[in-house]
Amino acid sequence: MAIRKDEGFVLARIPFRETSILLTVFSQNSGKLKLLMKGVRNDKRSKLARFEPFTHVSFVYYEKIKSDLHLGTDMEILNSQSSLRSQIAFVSYASYLTELVDTLFHVHDPCRDAYELLRYSFKSLSDGAPETVVRVFELKVLAEIGWLPTLTKCVSCAEQVNQLAYFSPRQGGIICPKCEPKDVSTFPISRGARETLLYFVTSKFQDAIRLKISVSIGQELKRISEKFFRFHLDYPLRSTKFLSEVAPFPTT
Ligand SMILES: [Zn+2]
Repeated sequence: MAIRKDEGFVLARIPFRETSILLTVFSQNSGKLKLLMKGVRNDKRSKLARFEPFTHVSFVYYEKIKSDLHLGTDMEILNSQSSLRSQIAFVSYASYLTELVDTLFHVHDPCRDAYELLRYSFKSLSDGAPETVVRVFELKVLAEIGWLPTLTKCVSCAEQVNQLAYFSPRQGGIICPKCEPKDVSTFPISRGARETLLYFVTSKFQDAIRLKISVSIGQELKRISEKFFRFHLDYPLRSTKFLSEVAPFPTT
């Protein structure tokens, strides 16, 4: 049983037996980890804060070779993310990001770039346009796991697509009018939405999140995201409903 030290963001926690907590953490060096924190449920309230979702923590764990559940210990808060807890809307956006990471990554699948994306996104949610941060995060994480939608040419016939284009969640990209009738999952996508998505993909994170987006493009990007993830994930994300109920829409 090797002893490892790491840091990461708490994605989820559930009570385990009488006194323990089962924690899911997205770690810097080993990706998603499941940690059993033994005997901690009777800790003081202030110490239990380290197990709250989004919290940035450092920790030690005893790595088990034959199991995905490791024994966690010495967990300390590096950043409690108090700014994310200041408004219900930020909580809903942060919950969505953590659920997305938890869903898209398997345990022990290290991805330092996705870790950094989550770190930047948590940092940026409360000081700009959170809806844009979420859209940029989604696309850049999709690029990391090889699911990035094709945006410059028809995903079916590889022809250049000009004015009129459709989006296919099933094939993962834009579709030309000739191929569109063969795919029942498609819906129209505006040129503005396509160009915005392309800008997100090709720009650095910090530049992409500063792009001013109209309400109509913002709504269209949200619809595309919902349909894309609904098609590719086995079940709808719990936080999506919460997000649509409490998160305000961008007004720029
Ligand atoms: Zn085509």
